[in-house]
Amino acid sequence: MDKPKKEPALLHHKPEIRLCLNCGFPNRDSDKNCMYCRTSVVDDAGLISWMRQTYYILRWRWQLKQRREKACTAPKGHLSFLNLLGFFIVGAILSSVGLYWFSGAVAENSFSSGLIAILFLSYGIITLRSLFIKK
Ligand SMILES: [Zn+2]
Repeated sequence: MDKPKKEPALLHHKPEIRLCLNCGFPNRDSDKNCMYCRTSVVDDAGLISWMRQTYYILRWRWQLKQRREKACTAPKGHLSFLNLLGFFIVGAILSSVGLYWFSGAVAENSFSSGLIAILFLSYGIITLRSLFIKK
């Protein structure tokens, strides 16, 4: 008889979040299967399931925190990568100049030019080696 009065209560009913116990994905309470991994999210509301849900909430938050920390440290890693790239370029240039000079010295049969070339080459190799040892 007074049926219309019940409907507003249904409208105000907020859909609760039901965490997947397999992957921790927050699903709607109406979902029977996890939207992420397709595991059944329907289970009885006991103490164990409450504990598991709490565990997944904590884990979810921890993962978010980890991701944020990773995002903060990313620029530093980028900078060191640029440093490594700079080292690599310097080492490669020194080595190639040394090789070029050395080939010229061999063609001219010049001892002093060969010595300078070896110096360049060894500097280049040392630079490249320090790059790989650091890694
Ligand atoms: Zn899942």
